[in-house]
Amino acid sequence: MKTIPKGADVYWNPLMETLPLERLRDLQVKKFKKILEWAYERSKFHRSLYQGAGLEPGDIKSYEDVVKVPKVERAMMRDIPRKDPFPYGDALCVPLEEVTEFRQTSGTTGAPVYQPDTWQDWEWWAEAWAYLLYAQGYRRTDRVFLPFGYNIFVAFWAGHYAAEKVGCEVVPGGVLDTEARILKIQELRATAMMATPTYVLGMADTARKKLGIDPARDLTIRKITCAGEPGASIPSTKQRMEEAWGAKVYDHVGATEIGAWGFECTAQPGGLHVNEALFLIQLEDLETGRIIEEPGRKGKIVITALDRIAQPCIQFDSKDVAEWSKDPCPCGRTFRVIKGGVVGRSDDITKIKGVLVAPSAIEEVVRSIRGLSNEFEVLVTKKGDLDDIALKIEILPDEEKNREMILTQLKDQLRLKTNLGYNIEVHPYNSLPRYEVKAKRFKDLRKHG
Ligand SMILES: [Zn+2]
Repeated sequence: MKTIPKGADVYWNPLMETLPLERLRDLQVKKFKKILEWAYERSKFHRSLYQGAGLEPGDIKSYEDVVKVPKVERAMMRDIPRKDPFPYGDALCVPLEEVTEFRQTSGTTGAPVYQPDTWQDWEWWAEAWAYLLYAQGYRRTDRVFLPFGYNIFVAFWAGHYAAEKVGCEVVPGGVLDTEARILKIQELRATAMMATPTYVLGMADTARKKLGIDPARDLTIRKITCAGEPGASIPSTKQRMEEAWGAKVYDHVGATEIGAWGFECTAQPGGLHVNEALFLIQLEDLETGRIIEEPGRKGKIVITALDRIAQPCIQFDSKDVAEWSKDPCPCGRTFRVIKGGVVGRSDDITKIKGVLVAPSAIEEVVRSIRGLSNEFEVLVTKKGDLDDIALKIEILPDEEKNREMILTQLKDQLRLKTNLGYNIEVHPYNSLPRYEVKAKRFKDLRKHG
């Protein structure tokens, strides 16, 4: 294990990021009790949830007790009536006039959830992102470009404020189109940027095709922070992004209702640190509900934001499935590491032809095949009684000569990694849809006939 020299400029918060786990636990339990009491006293939504389970805040005395607190799911937040006080309803814990931020979820399924934050909450958002940006090497010398349509979605707004907090120079690339953004990056010699994996790859394609710019050679971006999709934790997608930009690509994980709770550090330990200073994060066994502390065992991630006050996030069932890594990270942080990051959302895992498959597993295979473009689409339908999976791909123009070899490789790898056979459709290069923010590549049409 690499030892960090004393006084090295590695951590955003040197004290918290190296605190022994037992002391982190004590602090987390103390803060957990406080936020639970806060919500119980101020929000009808939380109080009736806890009363329904026969639980009072005083019942929570230890780290192990936390599991007794009922979970909140996104669907429950969605059902909170949009009234009194409009538009947030009774999960709001502060007077309406203290709310300074409106955001909403950008999830691909269901109606959006409204998320109010106070100014204190907003500073907390920036603090959470400052931990992650600092861990990814952002410093005062960086010029950070945000190729992001500033709107009601939170990701990258927080990144913007946090980059300023760290002391970087921040360039908002809001209303520009992709070509103008690339030219601005070139003109200003920006050193870092934040985007979804889909857009990181899309920008590189546009730069090469439309502008004759090779990002790895002609641009100065050397670190990229991803959000919104799991791509930066999918090895083949990460490799494509790093090669296209000649940059380090780092993942982060968060959600509108939760905050930015996990991040990759520059040591890239093959997973994401959870931010144990600002969140209490537990893995729960999917069957028994037991808290999993040991490495190598999968559980669902349940998260509490310890300092968020307007619409608290307490025991949130993230629907993500993960396991703890067994090795401490060489960066020296005591914050635990989620092995492989978060790629298997339990909501996204679906049964096809009787086999459980995660869309990220298909992505990992497609992006690992040289000669295929970055774009693909998966369409699951029902033919008679049987499931059918069509996989639409594009072959790069100068790889057409290797077509047979590429297709054989793709079929073999898919069979090996997902245990399924696919109808592979080769589409003309540049004909599949291109996306600017989150991509919709996986379409399951079975439920709709
Ligand atoms: Zn680390």
